[in-house]
Parts: sequence; C-alpha cells; structure tokens
Amino acid sequence: MTDRLDIEVADAAGAANAKADPPKRKVFTRTYGCQMNVYDSERMNDVLAPQGYSVTEDLADADLVILNTCHIREKAAEKVYSELGRIRKVKEERALAGKDMMVGVAGCVAQAEGEEISRRAPIVDMVFGPQSYHRLPKLLEEAASGKKVVETEFDIDAKFEHLSERAARPVQKRPPAAFLTVQEGCDKFCTFCVVPYTRGAEVSRSVAQIVAEAEQMAAGGVREITLLGQNVNGWHGEAPDGKTWGLGRLLRRLSEIDGLDRLRYTTSHPRDMDDELIDAHRDLKTLMPYLHLPVQSGSDKILAAMNRKHTRDEYFRLIDRIREASPDIAMSCDFIVGFPGETDQDFEDTMDLIRRVEYGSAFSFKYSQRPGTPGATMADQVPEEVKGARLAELQALVASQQTAFNASRLGMTCDVLFERKGRNPGQLVGKSPWLQPVPVDAPEALIGTIQAVEIVEIGSNSLFGRLVAGHHASNGSSHDAIKEAAFDA
Ligand code: SF4
Repeated sequence: MTDRLDIEVADAAGAANAKADPPKRKVFTRTYGCQMNVYDSERMNDVLAPQGYSVTEDLADADLVILNTCHIREKAAEKVYSELGRIRKVKEERALAGKDMMVGVAGCVAQAEGEEISRRAPIVDMVFGPQSYHRLPKLLEEAASGKKVVETEFDIDAKFEHLSERAARPVQKRPPAAFLTVQEGCDKFCTFCVVPYTRGAEVSRSVAQIVAEAEQMAAGGVREITLLGQNVNGWHGEAPDGKTWGLGRLLRRLSEIDGLDRLRYTTSHPRDMDDELIDAHRDLKTLMPYLHLPVQSGSDKILAAMNRKHTRDEYFRLIDRIREASPDIAMSCDFIVGFPGETDQDFEDTMDLIRRVEYGSAFSFKYSQRPGTPGATMADQVPEEVKGARLAELQALVASQQTAFNASRLGMTCDVLFERKGRNPGQLVGKSPWLQPVPVDAPEALIGTIQAVEIVEIGSNSLFGRLVAGHHASNGSSHDAIKEAAFDA
C-alpha cells in the first residue's frame, strides 16, 4: 500500500503544459474570520502554486500579499484599511530595494466595499470577492499590466466548477484534518447578519463534486473532513441517482470513503436539522459527537425580531431529539447579547436556555450594527454598558458549563487524531471526538494517526492526555463509563 506521506506533491497545470517553469515568487496571505475563509485561502494558494508562488510567513519577503477579509466583526473595513497602512510601508521599503509587491484584498469586505478600497488605499492592485478566487491568475495578469482590478461578481457556480477541476488533479499531500466547502451563501436573512449580502444566495455543490474532492483529500492523507457552509445543513445537492440529497445522506456517502475516519460539519441552522441528519448522528461512527447549532437568543420575542423563524421550545425539542440519537454529543452555540429591544427578561430567557441545554462550548458576542442589515436601523438599541454586563454574565455561565463538560471527560480513554507538533518538545496536539485540543507526549511519527489516549488532566479549553499502550484505537471514545462535542447560521 502506498505510504501517504510519500505521495509526491504534483501540480496539474505544470504537468499539463510542459513550458518553462514560471519564476519563483512568494505569497503572504492573512486570513480573517471563519473557517470558510481558511478554506478559501488554501484554495487561493492551490491556484497560485502553478504560477510559481510558494507561501511565506514573512510579509517583507512577499511578492504578493492577500488579505482575505471577514465582514462579521464590527469595524471590519476600518481594520482592513489600517492593515493596508502597515503594508504600504513594507511595500515602499521593498520598492527602495528594487523589489515589487502586488497587494490584493479578498473576502467579504472586498465584496462589500468594492471600488471604495482602491480609492481609499491606492496601494491595492486587486479587489476581488469570494466568488473570484479561481480567476486569480487572470486577475494577477491584469494587475501586472497596471490595471486596477475590481471583481465582485456573484458567479458562485463558476467557482464551484473550478473547485471540482481541482479534484481531478494529481494527489497532493494534505494535513490530517481539513475543510471542504459544500455550500455557500444564505437565504435566511437574519436581521443582524451580512452574509446574504456579502456571500449571496444559497448554492450547493453537487454530490459528485464533493465526493471527488473528499476522495482526493483522503488519498492525500486527510483523515478528518469538516464540511463547510454558511448554512451547511441547508445543503441540498444533485446526486448521481438523479435525486436531491440532504446533508445526512451526503454524510452517509462520505463515510464510505476509504481512509476517511472522521466527519464534522459547520455551521448549522436549527430549522434545517432534519430527521435524516439527526439519524446520521445515531448511525455513523465517522460522524463526530459534536454539533455547533447556533440559537443566538433564548427569547421568543428576540428570535422573531432576528427573523430566526423558530421558537425556544422548538429548539429545546430539537436538542432532545439530537441527544436521543447521540447521548454524549457536545453541543456548541452562538449567542448575541443586546440585540435591539432585548430587555432584562429577554436576557434572562437566554440564560435559562443555556442552563437547560448545557453546552460543551459556545461563542458569544455583543450585538453590533452592520450597515445594510435591518437590525442596524431598529429602534431600542441597547446601551454598550448593558451589553457588556450581559456578555460577561453569559460567558461566565458558558465557561462553567465548558469546564463541567471537560471535567466529565477526565479518566476516559478516547480516540485522538494527531494533527501537529505541540509547544513543548516531544509533544503532539490532536483533537478529541468532541473537538477539544488534546496535547500528548508522543513521537512525531504519530502525526496523521488516530490513537487511544487517556485524559489525565483538564484545562479550560484543552484535555491533557497520555497514550494508552497497546490500546487499539477505534473511531469514538472507549471509556467503560461512557454511554456514550464563526461562522454564522
Ligand atoms: S446568521 Fe446564518 S442563517 Fe442567519 S443570515 Fe447569517 S448566515 Fe444565514
């Protein structure tokens, strides 16, 4: 059998045309925001490799700088402009040394700001939205001829077509855990969110495209895939049988791929958790016991104002069904505090919901007004000091639940997928089935393998473990006592 680690890194474009190698150049990419941006940055690097680009961590060494931006946080555009100010200085220093530097702004801020970026920051050569990454070589060519490139069209189908071409390339060595985008955009229009405006309407890749890419990733050494989408459980793709599949059916198909031991998906909307998907949590050993299912608020009034289109009771019933299917699942969530009109009672409803659900982890934010969203112009905006106090209270509750969840893992033996070297010499870091990082003293040769690990200590986010000698690793946790853990939706 072929040793995955020895698979040669090959490049389709290079193989396809036997021209002279392109000049060697360096690209520096700074990625902001969610995992989908991480995935997109990796894809941009893939597209640039045949053009002679390799990745550098040193900004001063870069012939090309790409800021892959996120519009989710407050003042996102201002942060990009201030970063561009720093890059301008480096670009000027390189120019004094006779070296060129091309600057591109990608991602959701690029999509939202468009030409305004080139106007305010003349050092920027290219502004391009998330649907244009496959066209990077062409955009670079245009920019090199002195043209200011602005490309913010919503041609998501073309992007996905290109991504499927990537799947047909020779196998490349990949990290043990990787992302795979199956869906982009969102039609839900929550009143606080910019995604439907920056990423456009929901589009799903086909089953054939996703399976081909997943098979190629597995052949390159990926053992865990996290399916990505802004509203990933709203995915509904064209299948080889002529039908339209939902995410549960897709997960079943992916779990048949040789060498692919773990599957996850994020981020989901409660309204799109159907029975088939819940059953997949019960039936598939490859589907890890972790689910990020944002509810945002525990108040029916605020849920309605957010246009979430479900109630707190419906959410509770959903959690019950999920836990019935997968009793040991780690539930994760997003909360927004201080949405316009949120009273003390509304906030207390959210705290009550958290107490009842008991999360393994959660992300929480103060509401901030995003220009262009309905929430930004709603009456009864909540004062900053009230939002701050509520956020602190909520985070303290979530932290105590996270600690309790982690403490319940103490003494268990669970499977850990080792992904990289740790901070300390002789240490590796892997992931538990519930998504916590697990530092373990272990030889480097175990990177990319799944090993049985006993949890001997807990941290606020991490589980510390030791290898269990002679214990055969399975796909889930293997403790006797176990009956069995931003983006947007
Ligand atoms: S919060 Fe999620 S579901 Fe709502 S509009 Fe944004 S991406 Fe869509």
